Amino acid sequence: MTHIEKKRHSIAHLLAAATLKLYPDTKITLGPAIEHGFYYDMEFSNTISDSDLKKIQKTMKKMANSWSTFESKEVSPNEAREFFAGNEYKLELIDEIEKKGEPITLYTSGDFTDLCRGGHVENFKEEIDMNAFKLDRVAGAYWRGDENNPMLTRIYGLAFDTKEELDEYLQQRDEAKKRDHRKIGKELGLFTFSEKVGPGLPLFTPKGTKIRDLVVDKIDRIQSQFGYEKVCIPHITKSDLYKTSGHWDKYKDDLFHVKGKSDAEFVMKPMNCPHHTQVYDAEPRSYRDLPLRYAETTMVYRDEQAGELMGLSRVRSISQDDGHIFCTPDHIKQEVNNIVSIIKEFYTAMDMFNDGDYWVSLSVRDSQDLDKYIGDDELWDKAEIILEDIAKENNLHYKRVEGEAAFYGPKLDFQFKDALGREWQLGTAQLDFVQPARFELEYTDNEGNKQTPVMIHRAVAGSLERFMALSIEHFAGYFPLWLAPLQIAIIPIKPDIHGDYAETIRQALQEAGARVELWDDDHDGFGKKVRRAKNEKIPYWIIIGDEETDSKTLTIESKNGQQKNISMEEFVASIQDKLK
Ligand SMILES: [Zn+2]
Ligand SMILES: [Zn+2]
Repeated sequence: MTHIEKKRHSIAHLLAAATLKLYPDTKITLGPAIEHGFYYDMEFSNTISDSDLKKIQKTMKKMANSWSTFESKEVSPNEAREFFAGNEYKLELIDEIEKKGEPITLYTSGDFTDLCRGGHVENFKEEIDMNAFKLDRVAGAYWRGDENNPMLTRIYGLAFDTKEELDEYLQQRDEAKKRDHRKIGKELGLFTFSEKVGPGLPLFTPKGTKIRDLVVDKIDRIQSQFGYEKVCIPHITKSDLYKTSGHWDKYKDDLFHVKGKSDAEFVMKPMNCPHHTQVYDAEPRSYRDLPLRYAETTMVYRDEQAGELMGLSRVRSISQDDGHIFCTPDHIKQEVNNIVSIIKEFYTAMDMFNDGDYWVSLSVRDSQDLDKYIGDDELWDKAEIILEDIAKENNLHYKRVEGEAAFYGPKLDFQFKDALGREWQLGTAQLDFVQPARFELEYTDNEGNKQTPVMIHRAVAGSLERFMALSIEHFAGYFPLWLAPLQIAIIPIKPDIHGDYAETIRQALQEAGARVELWDDDHDGFGKKVRRAKNEKIPYWIIIGDEETDSKTLTIESKNGQQKNISMEEFVASIQDKLK
């Protein structure tokens, strides 16, 4: 446990203590440290809402003065049961600890004692700044996360080392709320949800679809330089496919099952890799055919818990820009290098591949527990070295993370920071030494022997839904020029007088490859059109009035302000340049 985690968990104790003081009938359960703070789950005999938090917080601050050390005491199961008599939650925990044969410890600070495994500060009063703490909100939570269990009240708190850190976090969270992709996505009309279709199943409007297409086009254009070929697979499969791949036992409860006319068991695909192995396996392969690089942007379906769904960031229909490479071990370096180049080029276009804005996690085996990994040890060793070499040669900001590799191969995961400093795991290159063998994939080597190919899974944007959520929040809805569904709107002040000149400009911009619209209808006045351009966060809108028409110039506006007296040629050239 890190020191801040100890602080957070220690304050959770204080929360339970203060709550019991105010509401003695409360049954306290568990109070772990979490990111940014802590929570404590309790069963109240009265209803608690956000408005009660002030009172609890005040009591906590008062009590904190008498808290210093956490005294621990090991007790027998029966002593513990006696202490927590009437609290069925604690009794359940005590039974469990007893069954595991672990010691039962009680920790006391001030006059409050809790059942706990430990992980506290040495001295509460000296180490914890109570100004760097705040009770945050009340939520419901099932006991132990199981919906068959009683619903408890969860009180969340925030806690940091200093008040400055707390304030900074609160400010950032405020900004995140303003940028929430669900809010901006609605304002910009990019996607919608329908109760008739179901939760977690977003529907994209023409504008939202345009953005998705732009992302996919960009990735396609970059990866086609590296020999990727597109494939296309159905969205359902017999369950046999996952029984062979080994995913069935682990994931069958998270899949959508499809009932057909036959007895065969069908499911919606939760991933594409096993399908792609079957494209590979359709023909005998020779080492001369490799590498084969299959790419496809396609939806997968996962039956996520309804409570876990969140806008576009957690959905049940996920569009992956997926790719699978089948190659020999000798190809690994070149192929992963190419994936790194693709990811680099794509995120450079997003202006996210700057120092300090990303890092790469190089996930390798846990050297203490090599048995849990499947595949040839020598190949693993070699592959881990190759991935690290690639990270070094590309000057990637990488961290070697032991024990993070999947059981079937090591990987590079690209983590990007958005404008609010939040990390998103997006692109990935993942080696797989297991699936090809499970599907008995083969190629003939140059000596005529049968060999098993290596499979590399890769994604650039990852999930297009999550990527759109990130883009909206990162840019606060102001997409970069290449990603804006509409790039330029031309607004003549008086369409009947300035319309002809405006149309000339529209044509020139369209020929230059820009997505441009001329807003020359008479329904809305000039002011309303300008407001619309602003609200839709269009990168540029051009104003054409008498002055512009006479001097054959443009007035260009963007969120950054106004530029006057630009010649049409000058603007067209600058747009062409930016679109490159
Ligand atoms: Zn504790
Ligand atoms: Zn895959």
